[in-house]
Amino acid sequence: MTAPGFKVLAWHSINVNENTYNGNDQIAFAEDLRTLHRSGARIWPLADALSALHAGTLPERIVVLTADDGATLDFLPFEHPVCGSQPGFYRTLQKFADEVGPDAGHRLHASCFAIASPEARAELDRKDFLGLDLWHDRWWADANASGLIAVESHSWDHNHPSLDRSCQRDNRRGDFRLIDTEAECRAEVDQASDYIELRAGRRPQFLAYPWGHASEYLVREYLPRFGPGLGLSAALGCDPIAVTSASDRWMLPRFMFNHDWKSADDLLAILRS
Ligand SMILES: [Zn+2]
Repeated sequence: MTAPGFKVLAWHSINVNENTYNGNDQIAFAEDLRTLHRSGARIWPLADALSALHAGTLPERIVVLTADDGATLDFLPFEHPVCGSQPGFYRTLQKFADEVGPDAGHRLHASCFAIASPEARAELDRKDFLGLDLWHDRWWADANASGLIAVESHSWDHNHPSLDRSCQRDNRRGDFRLIDTEAECRAEVDQASDYIELRAGRRPQFLAYPWGHASEYLVREYLPRFGPGLGLSAALGCDPIAVTSASDRWMLPRFMFNHDWKSADDLLAILRS
């Protein structure tokens, strides 16, 4: 039986504030994987789910895992100064794979959307994360080679409010809808794909809009015209509904942890919806 759609779920690996489900995305990610498995959901890569959706062969209860911002905790473990050892999403995926075994029916994979600019990541690390070196890109190529994680694009600089200067023409930050001219889109999208390909050895196939925001120009004109030539096949926002054949490929919906679900019961309700 084919399904009308699949669900895309998102976490932020760098959100580690205390050792509770809601205070630590490392803990939530591990628990949520088990909830997904127990509920009968099956994890697939985004590319496989989209292909099957369009071929009309998508099974029921498919979910896709994503992570935003591209902190090292997507892939590497980290000794947190307050919360102690954090495994990183990659080790959690490996552990989960060992737990459920090869016949569990998952095609285990996560798409990790990284901020591309090394200067922006260094500035964010320094200003917002105590200079803990949680935002380098030395793990990108290994992550892609692992087969469990693909490094995708989360724009060049996120038009992030903590940066002194972003690609936005008037340096207005904090909202990605302000990226709405060809020059700004080239700086945020093309430049990000070029750099990620250079450092990660693979060109991003997907773009996740910072905060799920995007201008009409980016969604309706720029990506339909230039996206395929850039190697992009879809882009993701944050509308909390299923991806179906009616979804706009340049604004695919997804659900955010601690926003759209805050407990295992919330997650189960999303899976049933
Ligand atoms: Zn983000």
